[in-house]
Amino acid sequence: TPLILWFRRDLRLGDQPMLAAAVATGRPLLPVFVLDPETEALGAAPKWRLGLGIDHFADRLAGVGSRLTLRRGPALAVLRALVAETGAGGVWWSRLYDPVSVARDSAVKAALKAEGLEARSFAGHLLHEPWEIETGQGGFYRVFTPFWTALRGRPVPAPQPAPVALRGPSAWPASDRLADWRLGAAMNRGAAVVGAHVRVGEDRARARLGDFLDRIAPDYAETRDFPAIDGTSRLSEPLTYGEIGIREVWHAGFRAMEMGARGAGAFLRELAWREFSYHLLHHTPQITSANWRPEWDRFPWAGDSPEVDRWRRGQTGEPFVDAAMREMYVTGTMHNRARMIVASYLTKHLLTHWRLGQDWFADCLTDWDPAANAMGWQWVAGSGPDAAPYFRIFNPATQAQKFDPEGRYRRRYLDKASPEARSFFDAVPRSWGLRPDQPAPPPLVDLARGRALALAAYADARA
Ligand code: FAD
Repeated sequence: TPLILWFRRDLRLGDQPMLAAAVATGRPLLPVFVLDPETEALGAAPKWRLGLGIDHFADRLAGVGSRLTLRRGPALAVLRALVAETGAGGVWWSRLYDPVSVARDSAVKAALKAEGLEARSFAGHLLHEPWEIETGQGGFYRVFTPFWTALRGRPVPAPQPAPVALRGPSAWPASDRLADWRLGAAMNRGAAVVGAHVRVGEDRARARLGDFLDRIAPDYAETRDFPAIDGTSRLSEPLTYGEIGIREVWHAGFRAMEMGARGAGAFLRELAWREFSYHLLHHTPQITSANWRPEWDRFPWAGDSPEVDRWRRGQTGEPFVDAAMREMYVTGTMHNRARMIVASYLTKHLLTHWRLGQDWFADCLTDWDPAANAMGWQWVAGSGPDAAPYFRIFNPATQAQKFDPEGRYRRRYLDKASPEARSFFDAVPRSWGLRPDQPAPPPLVDLARGRALALAAYADARA
């Protein structure tokens, strides 16, 4: 009997444990993507980017003689209907770990099993399942360094090669048209602006990985903090949609390290941060929505305000912050150093709740990831595990001197003569009232005063 393969954040053929196991059964395979309410809830940029990924993956499946069936509706109802139409004996998928997906998938699994169907979930989104790495006492890790020590000692399963052909059913079920899903409907700057910066699909992700390891990794440990430099892998986007498998990335990095490539070890350590964010997400799912340390519930975070709008729109008058917010708006990603600085500015200089920043990132980032985003925000705000201590307040001006010493990054997004800066003004909604010929906005807060107020508020809350 046919098997339904329910694809979600695993839009690839290689390093795909679920697919490899399905091919090994010799059964006809029916790949499906379901646009369920949980997926409909994605922010504008990630939802638009997902559409590109689905389109590309459908082509990839066609290349191995298969077909991606698209259906819309609650996952269980859609999968049941497909089982009834095709006579499939079961549904397989790769596991996800955020609370929304876990709730949906558990309900789907229980319901299908109760109907006598085979419902199986597989590993593949992570190096190891989040419950496999334990402290000596059998608990989970709250601090990165010992987690990293435990992780690096564990062998990572080898990635399986992509199948060359997939067996299909005798007749394919009807499919929606991807264009009718209008996944880019809420995205005002998709193809024209952000589209120039995205790399879609498995082949391009693999090519970037190779290029990164050959050309960029040797200097990664030194250049990864400089946002004007193409000094990082830029794999977060394909990783979040599963367009490349993390185990393949790990093994490639590991081989490079063994061959003595400088920088490869530092890269593996960053992959471990991704893994750590999932470890935390699994063990403390509230990390996506509530202060990880409940004592932070007393902290008088400010809510939404015109100042927060100025932050969102890259109009704080703080050049590094504004460049970074504009980078995210026009490219769909933001350099890690800049993410830390804008997050610190919002939560510390503006004393605003990290959740507002998290929501804006979730709307704008094409590499939005439920685990890394939540951990990143709580880490900077100080409310998370292994967090930056409350008194660590990034000074965007000194950070700019240190990590953008020649001002190239700031000029790229702020100088009217630069194409990226101009594309920002072309892309923003008219209602924001921004024009390239306006003078730079005055600083929203005096940095020293903002820092003093933040420290006072933190001291109060701690007392
Ligand atoms: P590289 O430096 O090449 O690192 C390799 C890979 O390691 C990345 O692709 C990523 O998968 C992983 N990684 C690196 N740093 C981190 C980190 N700090 N946490 C978790 N994984 C990491 N990353 C996302 O993928 N999605 C998000 O939504 C996201 N939101 C963030 C929000 C804040 C406030 C902060 C401070 C960080 C956030 N990050 C997020 C983490 C990090 O900024 C990005 O993963 C990184 O900038 C991606 O660029 P890269 O692929 O070139 O990274």
